[in-house]
Amino acid sequence: MTMIADTQNPSLAQRITDRGLRPTPQREVVYQVILAKRDHPTAEEVFARVKILMSTISLATVYNCLEALVQYGLIKQVNFVREPTRYCPNLHEHAHFHDEASGKIHDIDIPADLMARLRSLLPAGYAAVSVDLSFRGSVRSAPAPAAHNN
Ligand SMILES: [Zn+2]
Repeated sequence: MTMIADTQNPSLAQRITDRGLRPTPQREVVYQVILAKRDHPTAEEVFARVKILMSTISLATVYNCLEALVQYGLIKQVNFVREPTRYCPNLHEHAHFHDEASGKIHDIDIPADLMARLRSLLPAGYAAVSVDLSFRGSVRSAPAPAAHNN
């Protein structure tokens, strides 16, 4: 098997290598589109974006790349009930806010001390491998004018 030299983005290849995964042009382009627009795309959305850059890539290959990138800790899977899996390149521990009106998913930073407190809620003897926190909601509407006669 010949190694294909990456001329487009050596730093991406390096980041993939640093995690112990062999960089391939397909993995790099999938990683590239996830980093480029941090909107938690689904596999189908990643596929559509990757197709523009690499027209020959198949959906199955995109799935394989996503799986490898998740397995090697370069991206995280984000799951919401009754929705396809989404992908996030933010490796810091964070929660997600799912805006039900727009469908957008925002990263919410969780202070380290709060995360430590959450982890301490587990029964004695257990340790969490990961913590998934998600919020659903929408933009808060402007406060109603104060009513005095109700
Ligand atoms: Zn995220």
